[in-house]
Amino acid sequence: MPYLVREHLFIGKIGDAAEILQNGSDEITHVLSVLSSASISFFTEWRKGLSIPTKEIRKVYAGSLGSEDDASKTSLPPDKLLYSLEYAGKDLKLVRMAVPLRDMESEDLLDYLDVCLDFIDENRKEGSVLVHCFAGVSRSAAIITAYLMKTEQLSQEDALESLRQSCEFVCPNDGFLDQLKMFEEMGFKVDHASPIYKRFRLKVLGDSYNRGEKIDSSKFGADPGLPTEVVSSEEGESPNRQMVSTRAYRCKKCRRVVALQENVVDHIPGEGETSFEWHKRRSGNPFNKSDEMECSSLFVEPLRWMTAVEEGALEGKLSCAHCEARLGYFNWSGIQCSCGSWITPAFQLQKNRVDISSV
Ligand SMILES: [Zn+2]
Ligand SMILES: [Zn+2]
Repeated sequence: MPYLVREHLFIGKIGDAAEILQNGSDEITHVLSVLSSASISFFTEWRKGLSIPTKEIRKVYAGSLGSEDDASKTSLPPDKLLYSLEYAGKDLKLVRMAVPLRDMESEDLLDYLDVCLDFIDENRKEGSVLVHCFAGVSRSAAIITAYLMKTEQLSQEDALESLRQSCEFVCPNDGFLDQLKMFEEMGFKVDHASPIYKRFRLKVLGDSYNRGEKIDSSKFGADPGLPTEVVSSEEGESPNRQMVSTRAYRCKKCRRVVALQENVVDHIPGEGETSFEWHKRRSGNPFNKSDEMECSSLFVEPLRWMTAVEEGALEGKLSCAHCEARLGYFNWSGIQCSCGSWITPAFQLQKNRVDISSV
């Protein structure tokens, strides 16, 4: 039996969902499935003999979300399925949204939260929603925890504790807990411009490199030294947008723009780090070390002029795309800044090789 979490909101395991999809339910009208596959065949493979009719409403891929600009700022490849929506079950009376998510610490939960929370919020108003994963312990609990955080402005800990009042064995995996903490620190939203999110995106990219996946430049930021690349996104960008004054970093030797302020991935000087721990240590630091320690390096997201990175090596030099002067290094297993912080993965520009100006 699914557990009631809030009015019109239930959490359950695959068996609960199968029962409802097979036989219908007096109460539940919407099902959010969070399984490693979004396909309904996951159920029929799980239990032979199940037969669940479905009728597709739509499939949405990461790349079709929002503007092109937004999409390129998520951590998901554009061709990755974000969710599928279908009528399902007896007489096709239920609406099922299926989100493909594995229960792994390295899995990107953050980029699925918006669509999941919207689905829950909207459909609780007119019916009842069951959120389920395989065991009803980690994935579904992580999503409901985020939902409670956002709607009731609760910290990650308080939201999870509150959920445990309804269902005592819920236990999102550690990677999900870290991401929920980031969600809290970003103000209960997934803010792609936040340094917290930028670090997360870099970490996801690093994980994918470590798994041996080919890193191609579609995951890199646009080259700020090529104005045409920005304009090429149809109809030309509004001129105002180009006028917004932002800080730019130029090659000292030839003055080519090599990074913009928005490409910089900040770190707290002097603090040891992995991306998931980075923000936790901030509060535990009794001294404001940033005044005492000057960082000699600037760390940025990988950018399209960094062709050396695409060749797949673990580490290498970063040279100016125009004059080939050395600007810094990249290293997928990290580089230590002069302040002591480890940045992993690292795309480093040495401050004495770039000039700061406004664009
Ligand atoms: Zn530093
Ligand atoms: Zn140069």
